[in-house]
Amino acid sequence: MNTPEPVHSGIISEQLASYRKRSLPGLVATSALSALIAFGVFYSSLIATSQPITAEQYSKVNDAIELLEAKGFEREVFLLRNTAQFRRSDNWFNSAMLNADSYAATNFPFQIITLYPDFYSKTTDDVERAMVLLHEAKHLESKDENAAYAFVWQNRERLGWTQLSHGTTPTYVTISEQTRENAPELFNCPDKVWNDCTETLAVRR
Ligand SMILES: [Zn+2]
Repeated sequence: MNTPEPVHSGIISEQLASYRKRSLPGLVATSALSALIAFGVFYSSLIATSQPITAEQYSKVNDAIELLEAKGFEREVFLLRNTAQFRRSDNWFNSAMLNADSYAATNFPFQIITLYPDFYSKTTDDVERAMVLLHEAKHLESKDENAAYAFVWQNRERLGWTQLSHGTTPTYVTISEQTRENAPELFNCPDKVWNDCTETLAVRR
């Protein structure tokens, strides 16, 4: 254990005195710098306690992002390409939280996207992986689960991920159930198929 030397308290009180004399802009700058350093330390700890995706995994991620680009999701593609770090194992913060879903998790505002095995194996093609990334891109924008699920569901036709094309895949079934839980406001249209306000399939009467 270190015993503090008396000289330290002298330096600290001098620092405190000069701190008190500082102007408001100086204090703001100091606080902003402290916040930036704290952000950097936290970010580094998230990166240090997780592993990057492999080259093979990156190629799947890239294919999915290219598909999003082809479908015109420019804002989301920009965020995924320029702000996100993709990881393959949980950082300490994710490990401590219990609510990660099975495909991916995003740490906002650190822009870290953790992709779990289901992202590669439970999805059936690039379209379904693009759908997962579209959801995570909403988290990169600070959107909550309701907004992320609703955005994907409302844009699934544009994405090419619909009842007709993917309705029987495990991912479509899982995500449609999760969307009903997280964005119930999209499912209160009794005149539509499955009460789904976004469904374009016609009701047979
Ligand atoms: Zn989410």
